Amino acid sequence: TKLLENKVCIVTGAAGINGIGLRTAKLFYEHGASIVITDVNEQACDTVRSMFNEDRSLVLVANVVSKDDCERVASAVLEKFGRIDVLVNNAGITQPVKFDEIQPDDYDRILDVNLRGMLYMSQAVTPQMKQQGSGSIVNTSSVSAQRGGGIFGGPHYSAAKAGMLGLGKAMARELGAFGVRVNAVTPGLIATDITGGKLDDAMKQKILEGIPLNRLGKPEDVAKAFLFLASDLSDYITGATIDVNGGMHIH
Ligand code: NAD
Repeated sequence: TKLLENKVCIVTGAAGINGIGLRTAKLFYEHGASIVITDVNEQACDTVRSMFNEDRSLVLVANVVSKDDCERVASAVLEKFGRIDVLVNNAGITQPVKFDEIQPDDYDRILDVNLRGMLYMSQAVTPQMKQQGSGSIVNTSSVSAQRGGGIFGGPHYSAAKAGMLGLGKAMARELGAFGVRVNAVTPGLIATDITGGKLDDAMKQKILEGIPLNRLGKPEDVAKAFLFLASDLSDYITGATIDVNGGMHIH
């Protein structure tokens, strides 16, 4: 069965060819959704535009850190599709540095894209969701938020991703009365371009020893959790956090 028939779903940071966002957009599309892909990378946007039928897709260059861009996305989606059912806040950046190496502009960049971007995109879509009396917002946090560091994220990344959990829970309390649900996914190590090619075989082997399911994650693993949280299968779930980490962190 198709789980997202007639739903309009926005996925941010979704033009990366090997990323979690594009895999999510494809899965949602297969489940009948109209999909909106946004990304700051213009070239990547051009590449993905032809992957989907124009009637059921919209690809927009937009920076989640810009409130104007976020509002422009919401307006364009309403103009084309007339409603907004799902927002997946997926855009994110990381930086593998140590605590005392974090420079002021690194802090700003990492906190802005991951956390401020989630706030601005959510603020842009919630007026419409409230008016509809329904909506699902899903936030991409990280195991890094829970254990104080992943493998590729520095302490500022952990802080941003932990901030996303707090912001999301507060939003869930405030928006529940309007039928808008807000949940988070905390992926473990997923093989995408975010690792910047820095993951060698020896490192991979060492990481695998700490993963009960004995493999790295795939973008599809995260996309499937997003699908659950986006769809009505999860219609009594809000404020929750779903771990997608192969058992790397059990708590
Ligand atoms: P990715 O680099 O392939 O995808 C991130 C996308 O976000 C890119 O397409 C990039 O262009 C876009 N982006 C960056 N800055 C942006 C901005 N300001 N506005 C709009 N788009 C922007 O990496 P990914 O691994 O697919 O990451 C997706 C999400 O999953 C991120 O939030 C990341 O922090 C999170 N995550 C990834 C892992 C992992 O191991 N890969 C683990 C936990 C969480």
